[in-house]
Amino acid sequence: MKIVDILNSKKVSLSFEVFPPKKQEALESIKKTAVELTSLNPDFISVTFGAGGSTQGYTADIAQAIENQGTTALAHLTCVRSTSEALNHIISNLKEKNISNVLALRGDFPKDSVEGENVFPSGFVHASDLVTLLKKEGFCVGGACYPEGHPESTSRETDIENLKHKVDAGVDFLTTQMFFDNDMLYSFLYRLQSAGIHVPVLAGIMPITNANQVSRMVDLSNAYIPRKLLAICDRFKNSPEAMKQAGIAYATDQIIDLISNGVRGIHIYTMNKPEIAKAIISNVNEIIKATNL
Ligand code: FAD
Repeated sequence: MKIVDILNSKKVSLSFEVFPPKKQEALESIKKTAVELTSLNPDFISVTFGAGGSTQGYTADIAQAIENQGTTALAHLTCVRSTSEALNHIISNLKEKNISNVLALRGDFPKDSVEGENVFPSGFVHASDLVTLLKKEGFCVGGACYPEGHPESTSRETDIENLKHKVDAGVDFLTTQMFFDNDMLYSFLYRLQSAGIHVPVLAGIMPITNANQVSRMVDLSNAYIPRKLLAICDRFKNSPEAMKQAGIAYATDQIIDLISNGVRGIHIYTMNKPEIAKAIISNVNEIIKATNL
């Protein structure tokens, strides 16, 4: 099913994200994780796209395992360091596997790139280039967005102008980078409306269940960490079970506030941990049920 149709038919949607393994030996176990997540009845599960090499095909394999359970899958795809031939090959593979939803991404600029390397051999320099191709191929296409600004952008205004260009290229829905302060999202949504961006926006929630995650997440996303979350990490960094419980409670609190304020899509970065997804769902399932009545 096309994700845009799911989003249009529900007052609030809930989705999860898994990532493929680096090694083939772990592929079956990640497929099992994805299948376990389908038993929680999410509206869809997204599968990220690895940085390079042979593991890139695992995204389509895992997406197919999810679809085989009757759950919609969203396959991520990046264009950095990909040739046109490689992109066309992946697109054909997704079509063969009946995957109809793709999150079109540029991918991070490679840190190991040497001077003179053409990191965009397909000529696709921005995610919007990939959006145009995927729309032509008939996919329902998602795009990424950044409530606190993309790390490379010179200003939030320019970032929103570039985002508008990407949406105009054919994006059906957006998923946000993780954020830990809901006010960041509310002000971003306001700026999107002002810029004439009206596609559905799914709020990306990352449960912090291990205190060491915080510095990694800040490096990755530049996200602001509120005092309340810092205090949790500081207090429980040496008590893994307590940290997990507090991190789940923090994510739950964020989700309840988002739904109460009319946000219509919650995307949980489940990080291949079904037990965390289960705990959050058991905290919010009645809230989601009541909202969708
Ligand atoms: P773009 O939309 O191309 O934007 C990148 C930068 O270029 C921004 O600063 C933007 O303002 C600027 N820009 C865009 N268009 C133009 C233009 N026309 N002119 C000038 N500047 C422009 N990475 C992976 O490797 N695999 C994944 O599976 C993956 N999944 C992700 C899922 C989500 C929800 C998010 C938020 C990120 C994900 N990423 C993933 C990370 C993503 O690849 C990086 O954040 C990357 O740096 C930017 O990708 P993008 O698609 O947002 O790029």
